[in-house]
Amino acid sequence: MIKIDLNFAIAVYLCFSISLVFVLWVFYNYYKVSVEMETSHLLQCPVCTHIFMSFEEQELYKCPQCHSYINARQIKIQTNK
Ligand SMILES: [Zn+2]
Repeated sequence: MIKIDLNFAIAVYLCFSISLVFVLWVFYNYYKVSVEMETSHLLQCPVCTHIFMSFEEQELYKCPQCHSYINARQIKIQTNK
């Protein structure tokens, strides 16, 4: 049988808990950054308000729902905060 001091057991338990919270915090922060990068590719059609994604920089976008052509300047004006 392994004999462990109570203080040592509490210290190990707290270190494990704190390191688990730290690892989860780092993981969710990196996940949050990746979600924000994905939302930067979201575009909204000013005609039908359909939201779609485009990963390419173009001068003209085509809405997949109403098939209208959208100028990139129009979209950038609406997405600026
Ligand atoms: Zn549209």
